[in-house]
Amino acid sequence: MTQALRRMQSLASSWQEELADAFQSLDQLFEYLELDSRSVPSGHSRRNPFPFKVTRSFAAKIEKGNIDDPLLKQILPTTAEFENPAGFVDNPVGDLEAIATPGLLHKYRGRVLLVTTGACAVNCRYCFRRNYPYSGNQLGSSGRGAALRYIERRPEIREVILSGGDPLVLSNSSLEELIRTISAIDHVARLRIHTRIPSVLPSRIDRELIRILKKSRLKTVVVTHINHPREIDDHLKSAVSLLLRAQIRVLNQCVLLRGVNDSPQILSELLERAFDSGIHPYYLHMLDRAAGTAHFEVAEDYSRYLEETLRNRLPGYLLPRFVREIAGEPYKVPI
Ligand SMILES: *Cc1c(COP(=O)(O)O)cnc(C)c1O
Ligand code: SF4
Repeated sequence: MTQALRRMQSLASSWQEELADAFQSLDQLFEYLELDSRSVPSGHSRRNPFPFKVTRSFAAKIEKGNIDDPLLKQILPTTAEFENPAGFVDNPVGDLEAIATPGLLHKYRGRVLLVTTGACAVNCRYCFRRNYPYSGNQLGSSGRGAALRYIERRPEIREVILSGGDPLVLSNSSLEELIRTISAIDHVARLRIHTRIPSVLPSRIDRELIRILKKSRLKTVVVTHINHPREIDDHLKSAVSLLLRAQIRVLNQCVLLRGVNDSPQILSELLERAFDSGIHPYYLHMLDRAAGTAHFEVAEDYSRYLEETLRNRLPGYLLPRFVREIAGEPYKVPI
């Protein structure tokens, strides 16, 4: 075997190895980040029903020794998660009411969302699905048949969104099979993939995945989830450029998070850097009020000020839509 071939084969499995090697112990992360856990004032918590998990790729972008790092804040469990002010609930955006078949959410006209898996490469502390009952309400192999029949019977469904969890933690072979069965439904024209992978495990965007997406007849859109300009590094850029070269549109949605990206400066930098990497803005979400996330909330008046400031600073095509998801509304509502 040539050395080049051997290298290619080891690269082929490297994302799965990296995923298995993610930090799942806070002590290990603190050691890696050169933080003394005893001197950490944030009340980080080891006992938490929503587990701690972060990939090495993402941890590598956190500044060493800085407990206030905006990337660290996104993944560090704190005791603030146990404070539960009124209005912060387990089912904040009406996902449960939208379940049409196990793992298929139908909220909006013309498109359905598949909860393909409950797993992610990192666990984001502000996640709106952190309390979602994945067991029994994700697609799995058993739910596929019912979901596909649901789509088949409704010719108005033009788009299928793969979500989760993170759909790109699924293996290439499961994704290939899922996409093949979706493309077999004639009235489906578009496939959308909602994923945090380019920021947290860029090696996952491998050539095999690109081949699978490219060969599908469906028009494919990848919606990334990047919240802070420092998440955009060369690894992310290479992953995104593979998608772009395969004629896949890449959009970004982010969540407005207190202490992470709630300033005009940081948001403009995020939007400009994303655009420089070929990523167009899509949504800027107001925090969904999931139990355990209240400490990330930004006041709505301040969000309006941020939107107005960005409008003053940036060309129109760099402005994301500032939206809030309200259970029962027919679309994500502009603020
Ligand atoms: C957000 C969401 C969508 C997608 O909405 P768009 O406005 O098309 O981005 C679709 N289905 C569900 C259940 C959603 O939560
Ligand atoms: S990657 Fe997405 S689904 Fe997974 S924890 Fe983060 S926000 Fe939630």
